[in-house]
Amino acid sequence: MAAIDAVDVSKQYRKQVALDRVDFEVEEGETFGFLGPNGAGKSTFINMLLDFAKPTEGSVSIFGYDCQRAGVAARERVGVLPEGYSVFEGLTGRQHIEYAINSKEVDDDPIEILDRVGIRGDADRQASEYSKGMAQRLVLGMALVGEPDLLILDEPSTGLDPNGAAQMREILREENARGATVFFSSHILEQVEAVCDRVGILQDGELVAVDTIAGLRSSL
Ligand code: ADP
Ligand code: ADP
Repeated sequence: MAAIDAVDVSKQYRKQVALDRVDFEVEEGETFGFLGPNGAGKSTFINMLLDFAKPTEGSVSIFGYDCQRAGVAARERVGVLPEGYSVFEGLTGRQHIEYAINSKEVDDDPIEILDRVGIRGDADRQASEYSKGMAQRLVLGMALVGEPDLLILDEPSTGLDPNGAAQMREILREENARGATVFFSSHILEQVEAVCDRVGILQDGELVAVDTIAGLRSSL
């Protein structure tokens, strides 16, 4: 069973073709990089996985569930780091993690999660006072709640300093080692390269290559 199965997916906005017959699978347990410049269609694809957008043609599924039909069943197995994330005014870091724990109905330890993302010491500060990098770690922590089988990260390194980006890669490797499939979108090859087994390259809505990093390099 593929973690993600995209079958001939197209998405057309009025005049803009955002995705053009994109067809690929992400195997369970893989770390997959979704690489492409701004405007290539990465967010459009992720929006479909999360059922925020519908394909004009084709279908996408997560662990065999069509994302536009049985969304909820699949979503319980998914952790998401959205691109335009924001923190809640008036809630501490710990309360953010508790919110994610309650909405997923699991019994994770919030402090253990804050520790993993490196902000345990700021657990009881207002998250609105966090730096951009800390806020991003917090949102990643929320995505890790409930040990998701699939982690979807949309441009996750934006706004992180090199140290924070390295720590995030380490967390993703740990998540993958525990069995999670990682789907990582980025416009920066080096970020994808450092984490991912395989990469799909998206250009103007078309998937122009899917290969291992080594395979892509040897075909250059
Ligand atoms: P990326 O995430 O790779 O930067 P996007 O998926 O955001 O790319 O955008 C792909 C293309 O689709 C762009 O040309 C963008 O302007 C267009 N697009 C995305 N969302 C919409 C929308 N809701 N309405 C119209 N055009 C859109
Ligand atoms: P990205 O950095 O991924 O390209 P964008 O800033 O293009 O993100 O898009 C942010 C949000 O706005 C997305 O949900 C996308 O669907 C929507 N969007 C992008 N381009 C357009 C557009 N031309 N018209 C309407 N909505 C758009």
